[in-house]
Amino acid sequence: MDKILIRGLEIPACHGVNPPEKVNLQPFIFDVDIAADFYRAAKRDDLSLTVNYSSACRLITEVVSSNTFDLIEKLAYECVFALFENFSSVSGISLTVWKPQAPMKRKFSNVGVTVSLKRESVYLSLGSSLGDKKAVLDTAIEKLNKTRGISVQKVSEYIATEPYGGVAKNEFLNCAVQISTILPPHTLLDEIQRIEAECGRVRNKRWEDRTLDIDIIFYGDKTIRDERLTVPHRDWNNRDFVKIPLKSIAPQLF
Ligand code: ATP
Ligand code: MG
Ligand code: MG
Repeated sequence: MDKILIRGLEIPACHGVNPPEKVNLQPFIFDVDIAADFYRAAKRDDLSLTVNYSSACRLITEVVSSNTFDLIEKLAYECVFALFENFSSVSGISLTVWKPQAPMKRKFSNVGVTVSLKRESVYLSLGSSLGDKKAVLDTAIEKLNKTRGISVQKVSEYIATEPYGGVAKNEFLNCAVQISTILPPHTLLDEIQRIEAECGRVRNKRWEDRTLDIDIIFYGDKTIRDERLTVPHRDWNNRDFVKIPLKSIAPQLF
């Protein structure tokens, strides 16, 4: 993957937990790797086809100097989010923020934080069998799109389906959604479970009727198997209520 590298971008700003740090400027220094495909820009020698590193530096400067955060972790994430949001062709970012004058008693040469995120295409399956099912799915998709780091790309039609697994009694309304996200898989799961809870999901018995279920079917081409997450979803291929809507928005997966 091609990369633009920015090294040693120094911006005076006020970030830190200690009260004096919130009023006295100190230097914050940025090293940034921005991954994208620069083949077309190189072929045509055209600035409009690449990521303008001067614009990227301006954007970082704006985020850094117009806010006051306690943590450099927060500062790093805000810069990375802003870069992804403003440069749609960027596929990955690794950003380090250094705070060489951090208030520490011991002598040290530098202290910093690195945040590395990649943009991925993810397919979700949504289902509802309690309440106003259409309104629940509409709200869930709106909440997904409003979540920082998630952008909804495609939504299938909603289809009515029979309950699955022998526990639920109600008819379901199901759909498939393609998102573009920079959230890592477990962070995405946290956000999905927040949205399920906000839409009234209560977990009692597996497969019982529920206001909202959101499952991760595919996360890029990743395979994940741990105590919280199995991706691709372990049962997706046996479920018409997953496959039919998914095929309508992503026939290339079949
Ligand atoms: P099923 O996963 O068979 O459709 P369910 O969706 O009703 O059942 P939930 O109660 O929503 O099950 O989730 C139970 C647990 O499954 C979650 O707490 C989550 O950690 C785990 N899980 C594992 N893989 C996935 C995945 N791909 N998508 C969502 N949750 C998953
Ligand atoms: Mg499910
Ligand atoms: Mg689920």
